[in-house]
Amino acid sequence: MNYEAFFKNELDTLRNDGRYRVFANLERKAGGFPSAIHRSEKGESDIRVWCSNDYLGMGQNPKVLKAMHETIDLCGAGAGGTRNISGTNRFHVELEKELADLHGKESALLFTSGYVSNWAALGTLGALIPNCIILSDAGNHASMIEGIKHSRAERHIFKHNDVADLERILKTLDPDRPKLIAFESVYSMDGDIGPIKEICDLADRYGAMTYLDEVHAVGMYGPRGGGIAEREGLMDRITVIEGTLGKAIGVVGGYIAASEALCDFVRSFASGFIFTTALPPAVAAAATASIRHLKTSHSERTGQRDRVQRLRMKLDAAGVPYMRNDSHIVPVMVGDAKKCKWISDLLMDRYGIYIQPINYPTVPRGTERLRITPTPLHSDADIDHLVGALSELWSHCALNRAVA
Ligand code: PLP
Repeated sequence: MNYEAFFKNELDTLRNDGRYRVFANLERKAGGFPSAIHRSEKGESDIRVWCSNDYLGMGQNPKVLKAMHETIDLCGAGAGGTRNISGTNRFHVELEKELADLHGKESALLFTSGYVSNWAALGTLGALIPNCIILSDAGNHASMIEGIKHSRAERHIFKHNDVADLERILKTLDPDRPKLIAFESVYSMDGDIGPIKEICDLADRYGAMTYLDEVHAVGMYGPRGGGIAEREGLMDRITVIEGTLGKAIGVVGGYIAASEALCDFVRSFASGFIFTTALPPAVAAAATASIRHLKTSHSERTGQRDRVQRLRMKLDAAGVPYMRNDSHIVPVMVGDAKKCKWISDLLMDRYGIYIQPINYPTVPRGTERLRITPTPLHSDADIDHLVGALSELWSHCALNRAVA
């Protein structure tokens, strides 16, 4: 086989489809977020980022930076080992306690990312609970899907957020077999929210465990930033809450929070936990500082909500169509991969606005979009500039307008 020709050919197919991913080369500015420097062959420019998952700007919060600096000075750069072999530092232990407390659980277990936490936890539970059946929402994230596949457990996919379909499947299953229902609270691309209570009711009725991915909700919802389950008073009904430290918390890493026995089980059997270097202590300390701050500070959450509301109001006035939802995510619909990429390029080049185009397979074909994530640090002027630019490009591309 001509390996090089194969790789190039596959990449050409992506390019022709408008799906070839070009990463924006950014230099984030601590203290200046959402500003960043963008570097390309055209040169260097100052831009405003509108698609970051640093939803609350915690990646530059002074308390978070101080904790990270101080811990580097105290412990050095890396953890120095896997959690089992010399890599467990007191900052990991403190962070796990903080996370357990955040979600009202007995215990928590850290992973190197949210992706790894889903992959390892679902993979381990599905593989090692004898005869386990996993019921998975059709909209679940790739990390959950890969974990479930890796487990080789029998799996059933229920229609997205459809409790009737979930129950239809549950009814067909052997009542004596162990079951796990895996779903999310905030779905990141459409920004819609899962029916957590109804799923918990079904889980109780059919003797299933529940596994809830709160990656896009941690820090953002609930009186202490515990997520949608906290906001709705449902945390005690969820068997496993999974989250990330890389989005609203502003650092990096992932975790599960659950009973002591379940976390200890995953700790003891999950290869994705055991055989990898622990997060740097400074990362763990920064995440702890961020979570502690968000447990008592509401200004980031209220500021973020205010920006979302204002952006929606301005988009409505300009007739730029976006998907309605009850979360903080504003998906502006384009519906064509090439146009989506073209608009994104023009936003960057002409207006200094960075929004990465979202194409298949992240979203279904025909639903290509600009996924906009306002933060408390976007100003009124930022919003006016963004909506003005989108409105001009909508006219330029003869895209459909929403009825204002
Ligand atoms: N779960 C969901 C729903 C996600 O959207 C993502 C990432 O975007 C992850 C898990 C993975 O989290 P992380 O970025 O920390 O690996």
